[in-house]
Amino acid sequence: MTYDDIIIGAGHNGLTAAAYLAAAGRSVLVLERADHVGGAAVSAMPFPGLPARVSRYSYLVSLLPREIIADLELDIRLIRRRFSSYTPLPADPATGILVDNEDTAATAASFRRATGSEAAFTAWESFGTRMGTIAQRVFPTMIEPLRSAEQMRDLVVGTDTSDAEIWEMLTSRPLGELLGQYFDDDVVRGIAATDGLIGTFADLDESPLRQNICFLYHLIGGGTGNWDVPVGGMGAVSGALYQAAAAAGAEIRTGVRVLGVDPSDGTVELAGDRVTGSMLYAACAPQVINGLLDEPVDTEADPRGSQLKINLLLERLPRLCDTTTSPEAAFAGTFHINESASQLRIAWEQADRGQVPEQPPCEIYCHTLSDGSILGPELEGRHTLTLFALHMPPEVFDAPGAVEHAVGATLASLNSVLAEPIQSVIAHDVTGNPCIEVKTPQDLEENLGLPGGNIFHRSLQWPWAESESEVGSWGVETRHPRLLLCGAGARRGGGVSGIPGHNAAARTLRG
Ligand SMILES: Cc1cc2nc3c(=O)[nH]c(=O)nc-3n(C[C@H](O)[C@H](O)[C@H](O)COP(=O)(O)OP(=O)(O)OC[C@H]3O[C@@H](n4cnc5c(N)ncnc54)[C@H](O)[C@@H]3O)c2cc1C
Repeated sequence: MTYDDIIIGAGHNGLTAAAYLAAAGRSVLVLERADHVGGAAVSAMPFPGLPARVSRYSYLVSLLPREIIADLELDIRLIRRRFSSYTPLPADPATGILVDNEDTAATAASFRRATGSEAAFTAWESFGTRMGTIAQRVFPTMIEPLRSAEQMRDLVVGTDTSDAEIWEMLTSRPLGELLGQYFDDDVVRGIAATDGLIGTFADLDESPLRQNICFLYHLIGGGTGNWDVPVGGMGAVSGALYQAAAAAGAEIRTGVRVLGVDPSDGTVELAGDRVTGSMLYAACAPQVINGLLDEPVDTEADPRGSQLKINLLLERLPRLCDTTTSPEAAFAGTFHINESASQLRIAWEQADRGQVPEQPPCEIYCHTLSDGSILGPELEGRHTLTLFALHMPPEVFDAPGAVEHAVGATLASLNSVLAEPIQSVIAHDVTGNPCIEVKTPQDLEENLGLPGGNIFHRSLQWPWAESESEVGSWGVETRHPRLLLCGAGARRGGGVSGIPGHNAAARTLRG
């Protein structure tokens, strides 16, 4: 069979590209090796006998442009969280910093109580304003042809010298320096820093600046940096994209693994079959497409990820050491645990030596406080928790028993800020087992084809052209004219954004 477009991988980006291309009247085939669509943006019921549909991997949405939602008429509803974060002090977990988006005075008082001065909140506000300006200016460019670094700088900075200084630091000096300039307090610095370390194995002060790039992606989403809860869970996002692609006429086949690709003539090898496309799209990771090609498109040597994800179902929310903050407020936003800047450094050093960090820095979010629709009626009052532990690269799980050890250490880290052990409130499934689902980088590689368990397919890249020849391109082109990247591994990829899918389709449709 011959198609205009063949897309390898039905993750949310492959589906986005399919929807745009099919809507333009092209014949589109999407091939997915799993028995379902969505890739890392799916919901699942992992606990036998209990109707709890958890966002199995990705859980919050920030980077999905409104334009894509509107263009594809996606039935997606996102809920803005009132509390953006809660952080108990590691040295005194009876005190915490609660960032309440609807109550500036309460947030200021919380910073004052925790840090003993007015300075931390003033710095927090000023940093937020500066980052807000960057977000507003950078985000709209994500679905346009690539600018050069100079053009992006001019767009962001204009004639404002203080914006110029912060942009310079953000793009050319290790993130630790920028945060150190704003924040004296170790805990407050850590709250800001974690955005640079999600899924990225880096020290804040190292020079390749992967932590800076990761930080930039976390702050620009939607032009505001807000991370929203998708109603119905992440499966609802991929479901809406699937509907759009199918309604536009794309043929989507699941349970079909692509075994080889020849971009010279557009042939795609399947078990016992072959199909041909005028254009081919790699919506899988670059390293995966490299394995399918004789001549690789991407040469990143070490795309390893660095996180442990744990999904839990609870009978109820646990009590906190901090009796002044309700669990409903603390768990509603991002709950930071043992993530001060110095704790992040220690954990990174231990993981860099191949050890599970003694006290893993981790963060938690509770979907059901924003959206109860993911639970069946018989589970009313229960809660899902997603725990994301940082600095857990694949090698720390190599030793026998390392996964159990890492899970135990992560739950102990959480328990250090609770008034009762989390284990005492975990629900049990119908077989009597505790409702805990664990995903290591190795699991992500095996289940999703994410090389090294990298949640972004590869290290994130600056969202502008890094060579003269890239200026004006879409950041999806490869050395093979018929083959485009269209997954998270494209420039401006990573995250649940649909941006690489949009940009690959735009490359074909607009040139
Ligand atoms: C644990 C975790 C937490 C995350 N949290 C967030 C979050 O909260 N917010 C956020 O924005 N992002 C988050 N991310 C990142 C985000 O989920 C991914 O970057 C994004 O979903 C990637 O989408 P994609 O469509 O590009 O690729 P994928 O979702 O990886 O899809 C690629 C598809 O290609 C298929 N495939 C691979 N090889 C073949 C083959 N040979 N033949 C056919 N099909 C093939 C795979 O099966 C897969 O379905 C998280 C990721 C993980 C893993």
